[in-house]
Amino acid sequence: MLYETFEKIYALEKQGKEITKLNVGEPDWRPPANVIQVVCDALRKGKDKYSSSAGVYELREKLAELHGCNAKNIVITTGSKWGIYALLSLHMRAGDNTIVLSPHWTAYDLICKQLGGQTKIVDLKMENKFAIDFNKLESAIDSNTKFIILNSPCNPTSKAWSEGEEQEVISIARKKGIIVLVDDAYRDLCFDARKERKFEDNLFIVNTFSKTFGMTGWRVGYVVVPEDIAKRLTSLNNITTTNVPVFLQLAAIKALEQKTKVAAKARVVCKKRAELASNILNKKLTFSKPDAGFYIFPKLPVETINFVNKLLDSGVAVVPGAAFGNYNQHIRISLSVDEKKLRLALEKIAELL
Ligand code: PMP
Repeated sequence: MLYETFEKIYALEKQGKEITKLNVGEPDWRPPANVIQVVCDALRKGKDKYSSSAGVYELREKLAELHGCNAKNIVITTGSKWGIYALLSLHMRAGDNTIVLSPHWTAYDLICKQLGGQTKIVDLKMENKFAIDFNKLESAIDSNTKFIILNSPCNPTSKAWSEGEEQEVISIARKKGIIVLVDDAYRDLCFDARKERKFEDNLFIVNTFSKTFGMTGWRVGYVVVPEDIAKRLTSLNNITTTNVPVFLQLAAIKALEQKTKVAAKARVVCKKRAELASNILNKKLTFSKPDAGFYIFPKLPVETINFVNKLLDSGVAVVPGAAFGNYNQHIRISLSVDEKKLRLALEKIAELL
């Protein structure tokens, strides 16, 4: 459904309609200029050949420092989406399942199904501020469960579970002998500025340069996993994507050097927009206030498909909540346009209600 909405918008734009795209899963900020410069220089220097399927060593070393492990634990992937797909594909066989806290990013479910496995959805309620029901989570685990996916902060709710809650999920998984795959795509954008996640034994960390640095189209992601898994993933890269372009990996090293500054700046933008959205929407809608990033996931008094279509006709695109699980009365609004446009679009949403 998420991807169908995108196609509809592209068609409307082709007809010349101007759409404020609050449906996109990407920030509107640009990568730092000196990062772009590295790409240009690297291309001129011929850094555009086949390369290691594990990734550029210096980048892996820098990431290992960040996550408290060895470069052998790091594999650079074609976006974190490929990292997630690849890790699941190395472990899941027909009949296996992965547990996903919902609302959830659509791709998890589609990937599991694509691999012949199942997704076990654990629904969380906005009325409880999307708190994790640990009993429900534990009883969802069975002998075919391979993973729990923990996406904190979460797409689409921007809920960031506390460190204590995250550790509780990890210890339940450890007790049951399964792995927690943490998808940290939005972690840098937590309003309470979290520390870097450290490597642990039953944790697969997946992360990306996409969101923090506004590098979504560059397709630079990475995983932090035990050495044997890193080797298997490198072999899988070898027969599929080969390598993330070296000129982009070299630029990612430059981006990492500025991570603290870039992330802090992004958090300020996100927080300001989240407050703006909360102030405009709380007159008409209920929602759990974002803890991070650029999504808000309000609940409407009605089912949302018709509303989303009507809104699109009036020039604002959002995604219906059904794209993220059993959340027919919700919409995901991506707060990823400048504040002037954002205010107008949010007011249009409130007006249409
Ligand atoms: N995880 C989540 C939760 C996401 O929302 C996205 C992008 N929408 C990704 C992973 C993938 O990001 P990328 O492949 O660009 O690294």
